[in-house]
Amino acid sequence: MPMPSRSGLPAGTTVDPNSYIGTNLKAVYARIIAAAEKCGRDPASIRLIAVSKTFAADRIGAAHAAGQRAFGESYAQEAIEKMPQLPGDIEWHFIGPLQSNKTRGVATHFTWVHSVDRLKIAQRLSEQRPEDMLPLQICLQVNVSGESSKSGADPEQVAALARAMAALPRLRLRGLMTIPEPTDDQILQRQRFASLRNLRDNLAAGGLDLDTLSMGMSDDLEAAVLEGATMVRVGRAIFGQRP
Ligand SMILES: *Cc1c(COP(=O)(O)O)cnc(C)c1O
Repeated sequence: MPMPSRSGLPAGTTVDPNSYIGTNLKAVYARIIAAAEKCGRDPASIRLIAVSKTFAADRIGAAHAAGQRAFGESYAQEAIEKMPQLPGDIEWHFIGPLQSNKTRGVATHFTWVHSVDRLKIAQRLSEQRPEDMLPLQICLQVNVSGESSKSGADPEQVAALARAMAALPRLRLRGLMTIPEPTDDQILQRQRFASLRNLRDNLAAGGLDLDTLSMGMSDDLEAAVLEGATMVRVGRAIFGQRP
């Protein structure tokens, strides 16, 4: 796990001053560190997932050269085409909507899947995860905003779903993920993230060992860190506006 150092980048990395991506990464790490310090958390307990969907392999390579190792992708085919062009030490996180006919590529190419919101998808991922790979690390995606957001399980169903997913042999349920509706209202942002944390705490009290809260993006990562995020998924603040 890369540990943000004081300079804001994983320890031991040097930043190419000519790389805007390196500069942006440093600024995002500085935001994570500032938010963590505000609430007395260890910044090293928060991982940055650089969301590289729609960006070409050379942009990902620039982030890799600046020290970033965990990348998030939303489209299976696009990601699988970029992977062979990039170094083998990248940890790939699938974060997009997942249809049944796309599970095999995800089960064979990714280390993490953050966006599992149905048992049927989890079962397919478990069946299709190759025996010679480590179990697939997954998060259960929850819809904490009600109707205004389409993806994610209903909070009422989370306990039963989490228990069923945790029992699948080739998966390891690590925690919960959410994408709240976009809002500038920082109080509302924190309420949404707090409700995901409460769901996780309830599951933990029920005996499930969950260490991950995947929440926070370019515009709301501070609120997510203040409410306990352990992974933030950041795209535009690193790579710029998506084409
Ligand atoms: C695109 C995406 C992100 C990154 O969003 P930005 O606003 O670019 O930081 C994070 N999570 C998911 C699930 C995404 O699809």
